[in-house]
Amino acid sequence: MNTSSPTGKLIVVSGPSGVGKGTLLRRVRESGRFPLVMSVSATTRAKRPGEEDGVDYYFLTREDFLARQSRGEFLESFEVYPGGALYGTLTEPVVRLLDEGKWVVLEIDVKGARQVLRTFPDAVTVFVLPPSFDDLEKRLRGRGTESEESLAKRLAQAKSELASADEYKYRVVNDRLDDAAADLTAILKNS
Ligand code: 5GP
Repeated sequence: MNTSSPTGKLIVVSGPSGVGKGTLLRRVRESGRFPLVMSVSATTRAKRPGEEDGVDYYFLTREDFLARQSRGEFLESFEVYPGGALYGTLTEPVVRLLDEGKWVVLEIDVKGARQVLRTFPDAVTVFVLPPSFDDLEKRLRGRGTESEESLAKRLAQAKSELASADEYKYRVVNDRLDDAAADLTAILKNS
């Protein structure tokens, strides 16, 4: 595997569920200032309404996911929530896009980010923070996609993830979208 990414750039973005990573990344991508491409992760979780296979995720059965894992196809893969679904980044598309000179964005959890840094120590790492924990809970409830049980899991996970924000090279607070997008743009420009 060519891990020196001679032309492309690897950008790892983490942050608690509901913080607005997707919206923020979409805003910066749509500015067209950088050749950003979102890596499509694989997951065993159920598809949410409106999600598309191969676009939002590759939705795999647990069996297929585990088979790919044992064949070493993942750059990183984890059970993001204890006892929950598996999520992972497939190596091949990431390396191909980097070779094409793309800036590949991985929107992954803290464990995944640590794993990716072992292979790509020069990856640009960005942690997206909510203005407050209360704000995060409000956003997650407002999204209306989670059951109470899933919500509780995501909030517990958020607490422990927030404690890892200092491990990242950069931090962006997603208070006002325009400001957060400007911050992320500046990071990408200078990285
Ligand atoms: P969701 O189920 O809301 O789509 O994603 C939940 C969390 O899983 C996200 O906050 C994201 O950080 C994490 N995630 C998504 N894809 C991957 C992946 O490929 N690898 C890892 N380690 N985490 C992922």
